[in-house]
Amino acid sequence: MKLKDKVALVTGGSRGIGRAVCLAFASQGAVVAVNATTFEGADKTAGEIRKRGGRAIAIKADVADPQQVNVMVEKVVNEFGRLDILVNNAGISMAKSSAELPIEDWNRAINIDLNGVFYCSQAAGRQMLKQKSGNIINMSSMYGLVVAPGRAAYSTSKGGINALTKVLGVEWAKDNIRVNAICPGYIMTELVTDLIDKGILDEAKLRKRCPMGRLGNVDEVAKVAVFLASDDSSYITGQTIVVDGGWSVYGYIID
Ligand code: NDP
Repeated sequence: MKLKDKVALVTGGSRGIGRAVCLAFASQGAVVAVNATTFEGADKTAGEIRKRGGRAIAIKADVADPQQVNVMVEKVVNEFGRLDILVNNAGISMAKSSAELPIEDWNRAINIDLNGVFYCSQAAGRQMLKQKSGNIINMSSMYGLVVAPGRAAYSTSKGGINALTKVLGVEWAKDNIRVNAICPGYIMTELVTDLIDKGILDEAKLRKRCPMGRLGNVDEVAKVAVFLASDDSSYITGQTIVVDGGWSVYGYIID
């Protein structure tokens, strides 16, 4: 087991990529604190882990609220005595033309997708600095590296996460805290099916555009999170690992 008895907190663990990360961590022996905006949502994943014989708790918190974030981290430390791994996974999509984007929508996306990552990293980092050990994994996006029209708030957040990953990686390296990011391409979750249902994305076109000819699945991201959380990546920090089926490096004509 690669994460035996490690205490992990995963934000946005009720479904999609976050849920897959929670289950993968638990299968590697981690104790998992599952966060979501509702207790019921978080506890669905935590319950699945407990049913499989693992240890997990659910914590309701909005990552965009620094006070709730501090209470969340306190709860984990009170319950398990430490915090070894934080996965900043919670996020929302925001696809609207920049000229039309209401300022409230811009602020909401930046608050959850970017500020939330800093609030959680700061709260967890303070505990990890005391422990002199820790591991933070940020769920960024290939849209933090390459961009698309109508994704101003999303890409700005994800690009910010990539920069924050580098800063915290170098700032906390001497304290034995590693900080890395994963940049997924299109992964089949509710976040993507929602955009397909609204007609913002076309699934057939997405497949065609991707060199691998398909969307990714959540387990393909979770496996990378396990790698980054474990000692298998012990000399890696400040990095972004792209998991996109070749999407972001493809520069030729689409047939
Ligand atoms: P989903 O929409 O399926 O899940 C999002 C998760 O985030 C849910 O658990 C949701 O909880 C939680 N969440 C949303 N807002 C908050 C908040 N304010 N506080 C706490 N939790 C919150 O998304 P995905 O699984 O697809 O995406 C997960 C991450 O991966 C996101 O950061 C996303 O940007 C990133 N990503 C996804 C890609 C994809 O193709 N799917 C591609 C690239 C990056 P609740 O149930 O309470 O709403």
